[in-house]
This record gives sequence, structure tokens and C-alpha cells, in this order.
Amino acid sequence: MVSSDTSLKSKLAKLGIHSQRDLVLHLPLRYEDETTLTPIAEAHEGHPVQIEGEVLSCEIAYRPRRQLVVKLRDPTGILFIRFLNFYPSQQKALVEGALVRAFGEVRPGFFGGEMVHPRYRVLRAPEPLPDALTPVYPTTAGLAQQALRKLIDQALANVDLSDTLPEAVRKRLKLSPFEEAVRVLHHPQPDADPQALDERTHPAWQRVKFDELLGQQLSMRAHYRARSREAAAPLSADTLTKRFLESLPFRLTGAQRRAWGEIERDLGRTHPMHRLLQGDVGSGKTVVAALAALRAVESGRQAAVMAPTEILAEQHFRKFSAWLTPLGVEVAWLTGSQRKPERKRIATEIAAGKLPLVVGTHALFQEGVAFRNLAVAIVDEQHRFGVRQRLALREKGTVSDALPHLLMMSATPIPRTLSMSYYADLDVSVIDELPPGRTPVITKLVADTRRDEVIARIRDACAEGRQAYWVCPLIEESEALDLQTAIDTHARLAAELPELSVGLVHGRLPPAEKAAVMDAFVAGKVHVLVATTVIEVGVDVPNASLMVIEHAERFGLAQLHQLRGRIGRGAAASVCIMLYQNPLSEGARRRLKIVFETSDGFRIAHEDLMLRGPGEYLGARQSGVPLLRFADLVRDEALLREARALADELLERAPDAARRHLERWMSGRADLVNA
Ligand code: ADP
Ligand code: MG
Repeated sequence: MVSSDTSLKSKLAKLGIHSQRDLVLHLPLRYEDETTLTPIAEAHEGHPVQIEGEVLSCEIAYRPRRQLVVKLRDPTGILFIRFLNFYPSQQKALVEGALVRAFGEVRPGFFGGEMVHPRYRVLRAPEPLPDALTPVYPTTAGLAQQALRKLIDQALANVDLSDTLPEAVRKRLKLSPFEEAVRVLHHPQPDADPQALDERTHPAWQRVKFDELLGQQLSMRAHYRARSREAAAPLSADTLTKRFLESLPFRLTGAQRRAWGEIERDLGRTHPMHRLLQGDVGSGKTVVAALAALRAVESGRQAAVMAPTEILAEQHFRKFSAWLTPLGVEVAWLTGSQRKPERKRIATEIAAGKLPLVVGTHALFQEGVAFRNLAVAIVDEQHRFGVRQRLALREKGTVSDALPHLLMMSATPIPRTLSMSYYADLDVSVIDELPPGRTPVITKLVADTRRDEVIARIRDACAEGRQAYWVCPLIEESEALDLQTAIDTHARLAAELPELSVGLVHGRLPPAEKAAVMDAFVAGKVHVLVATTVIEVGVDVPNASLMVIEHAERFGLAQLHQLRGRIGRGAAASVCIMLYQNPLSEGARRRLKIVFETSDGFRIAHEDLMLRGPGEYLGARQSGVPLLRFADLVRDEALLREARALADELLERAPDAARRHLERWMSGRADLVNA
């Protein structure tokens, strides 16, 4: 440990520093140039400078707040430095005659030129200027830069800094030695290029970023390889899947066929599949999932299909039943909202192996549900499930000592670099083609002052036999944000459109009522469905050709894209009206501009990643994956590619180097990585 001082320890822990090794990797945020002094007379406003002067006076002033005002003089002029928060010890040190070196931005102030809260030091004797840039570290309250710097320097002297990369590899990739890189970053040489350090293009940064990416890749790829040593039942019967394909009213698209081909090959193997099936909303993932489930059933084993919400799970249940019951496959249904005895009965039959195919919500994860022979587990909208829930499911099949094959589906397109890094432990199939016969959705951005026109449009569309969604942001808990609740909207629309049937679904509705409303909408008996974001995923009503999204400025990019994907599924031209309220924030304006301009899921995903950064973008999954601190997925794509290739190479040929590298980069996080 770094120190026995517990308060220091806890401050360091706040910075993610738990060992000397972590201190070495605690790298500067930026650098400041303290190698020169600027004469006070030449200290221009607006950029940081370093000045040195003698204290002429140091007083507490009240104008209007209590503050410490220090008057400094150098041979060229006078400058004030001002502290709104200060300790008595500071006042004591800044006595008349003291020599002060201060670094900060000069601003026009109450007294003339001034620096507010500059970084400063009282010099006991004249001191030479440093000859190199000064690092500025991320820190936390009560931990001074200088103290941190000292700890880091100690660590640099104590920690083993030898390279984890084999010399030949390092040379091949033209990377600096690790030791040189961290020394340069903590103590740049006088001739170091400040711009390259700042923009993190300096070879020292390149090395550190590469190492970080390699650490991430090694941990993810190690998982991937570990799986190939686990056992799963190989599935290869093809009686029901064949009949199912013949019974469908459509032919699979090329992309669906390719994805199914990849899954089919994986399922035939003796180790568990972990595959992510990605495809934009409406690309037809469900049918591919049904094929995978059927493959388990026709092989005499069980399959489970799980969705994050009751509505979505029920949609799957209906679809699977409609498709598979005619083939003689019984589809069971299990959710948290069922009565306990009913749940218990189903769980018993699952355990006995009597039910070949179960569709449900997270209730399927819960204890008390054990499969006799689970061979395929399918998780829809996987990003909504935590990593741990997913793993809990994996263990459901262990009765027979074989792990199930896992198929995860996501309608959130994942930019390539992201899937190459954060999803490096999975195989990925992409459905990048929509089924034929879709009509592109027209998007309109409309200020909410024009609601009446929008309501008239709904009236017209419904008069032509179409249906409409009206999406409101979350209700109740967001009252403070002045959101218009779905309940109010429903009441108003019902009053304004008396000739139409207006339904309402939201998260607080009892499941049975929710199901009844959804049923009526699917059957065309409800014309307008007012909903919170519960319809965000999965609902499929081709006759709905109009969608109004209220307070569109409050939704995320991916959400808007997903919502819009609910329409444009039938032959009628579809329109998505995004109602927004002025004034728009800069972020909201950008989001709306992007969804207006494109409906390409991958472009939207990319923009979303740029706007939000990977941590937020990944949502639940981030809890199981080490996030990057130094590397940037967009700018450092080339490094990422190299790290990916090298990770596999090291795991294969130099496992010791891989282990040392993981220790350096993943220490203390290994449990998360292994979760
Ligand atoms: P998602 O990928 O969003 O889950 P779905 O699986 O719900 O999409 O499919 C959307 C709709 O397209 C469904 O009505 C489905 O039956 C239909 N569909 C799927 N594949 C095809 C295809 N190859 N040709 C025509 N329609 C298809
Ligand atoms: Mg779906």
C-alpha cells in the first residue's frame, strides 16, 4: 500500500489508485509551461502565464465577500492575486516582502490586472525555473499536485517498469519502451513537443494507449478463449427448422440467411456459442432467434427466450406461438406477474424437461427455475440486462454439465470500434438489410406550439384506416422536470378526438390491462396508442404509420431511432413527428438534427457514441467491462486493431507476457473482468 495514512489512502482510492503500480499509471491530464517568467507588464489577459513578484501588501477585504487580496510587484509593474477561499496559514505566508511565483490567467479585475486563485508558491530563496513542462494530474479535494507528484516519483523509483511486450513485438510495432514512455509522461524532457503531449499523439502516449487497449483486449479475449474449453451440446438436427422455413410467408433476406448460417455453425460445436446478433429495428432478428430456439427443440433439448419487458416478452410469446404451434412445438410463458402457483407449476415442468421452449421476462433468471436440459438461451435487447443476469442464465443449463449456447440480440447498432473493443469477448453477426417492402419514414421536426396541426394529422391518418403512436417521456417520477404526463395527454387526445378510440400504456399499468390495450391496438380496435417509452422496443404493428414523439428533445439519439423504427413497417408511407419545445439546448439541437438527417442506424450509433462517450453508451454492460482512460476509440482505431491482433498472438504464444501485462493494467479490476 502507498501509505498507512488512511485519509491519504481514501483520497487516492477516490482517484482509483490502490497501489504503487496504479500511481505509475496515474498520468497527467495536461501540462503547464512554467519554464519561463512573464514580466507583469507583459502579462496579457486571457492566457495562462507565470509571474514572479514581491508581496507589497496582503489584506483581507470585504467587497462584498470576505477575500484575501495580495498586491505583487516586479520590476515592470503591479499585479493583484485574489483568493475567495483561503486558510489563515496562507495569509501568514504571504507577508510583505515574500517572493511569490504564481501561475494563472490574468483578468481585468476590481483593482486592475489580477489573477484569481492562481497556483502559487512562496519562494524561500531565488529558485531556478524548471527546464521542462510541469505535469498537472487529475486530483481530488485535499490532495495537492505537489504531494501527488512526490508519491508518483516514489512509485517510479520503486515499481518494476520493465516491458511486458516481447522486444521483437515492441520493435515490430514501433512502440517506445514502457519505462521510457511513463518517465516521459511524468517528466517530459525540455525539448518535448508540447503540442504532441497535449494532443496525446506523442510516442509516449501512443505506447500507453496501446498498452491500455492491449490490457482490455487481453482480458476480453482470454474470456473468449476460456469458453472454447467449456463443454456444450452440439446441435445439428434439422427437421423442424426446415419445416419452419418452408412454412414462413416470406423468404429470409440475404443478411438473415448469413446470420443464421453463422449461428447454425456455432450451435453444431461442442463448446458454447456467445454470439451477439445485431440488427436495426425491424431487420428481422426474431425469426433468426426462432430458428436458433427450434434447433434446440429438434435436438431434443430446451430453449429459453428472454426479453427485458413484459410487453416485449409477450410479443415474442405470441410470435413464437403463431409460428411454432402449427409445427407441434408447445411454447410456454413465464413472467413475474403470473400467480405464484402458476409460476411454480411451469417451473416444475421446465425442470422436468416437459416444456421445450419457454418465453419470458427476467423471471426466467430467478431462483427456483432450473432447466433440465437447456441448450439455447436467447436474450433480446441484451444491453438492458446486466452482465450478471446474463451469466445467471448461463448457469441454468449446468444440470447436464453442459453450458447452453447463448444468443444475444441488440437493436442498438454498435459502431465497429466499440464492438471490436467492448464486445471483444463475443462473436458478432450483423443483419444489415431490411426485409423488402418497407417504406422509408419521413421525419418532421415540429415546435410544440403547433400541436393542433399534429392532432389534425392524426385525425386524417386514422380516417384512412391507419393507426398512430403518441409517445410521451416517462411519467410521474419526472414531475419536477415538468414533463407532460402520458395520463394528461391521453385525456386530452381522447377529448379532442372523440370519434377515435385512444388507448394508454405506461409502466405503472397492471400487466393484464397493459396486455389488453396492446391487444386492442394490434387488432386495430384502438386507433391511437398513447405510450411512455414502453413501446421503445419490439412492438410490431405494421398498420401504424404515424408516430408523434413529444418532448423529443429529451430523448437520447438511440431512443429516438428505436422509436421511429416502430413505424414504416407496412406499405403505407409513414411519418414520424418529433415535437420539441424551445429553447433547445445545444445537445438537443444536435441530436434532433442527426435523426432528422439520417435513418441509418450505424451512422446514428456512431454519432451517439461521439456525443455520449462509451461509458454511457454501453449502459448496463459497462459494469462488467474496464472502461478506457487514455485511449479514444475513434481517434485510436489503428492502435485498437493492432492491440486486438496482438492480444490473440500473446495469449497463444507468450502467455507469460500476457499475464504480466494484465497484472499491470487490470490489477484490482480482475474480479469485474471475470464477473
Ligand atoms: P427486429 O429485428 O426489430 O426484432 P422483427 O423480427 O420484429 O424485427 O421483424 C420485423 C417484421 O418483419 C416482423 O413483422 C417480421 O415478421 C417481418 N420479417 C422478418 N423477416 C422478414 C423477411 N425476410 N421478409 C419479410 N418480412 C420479414
Ligand atoms: Mg425485436
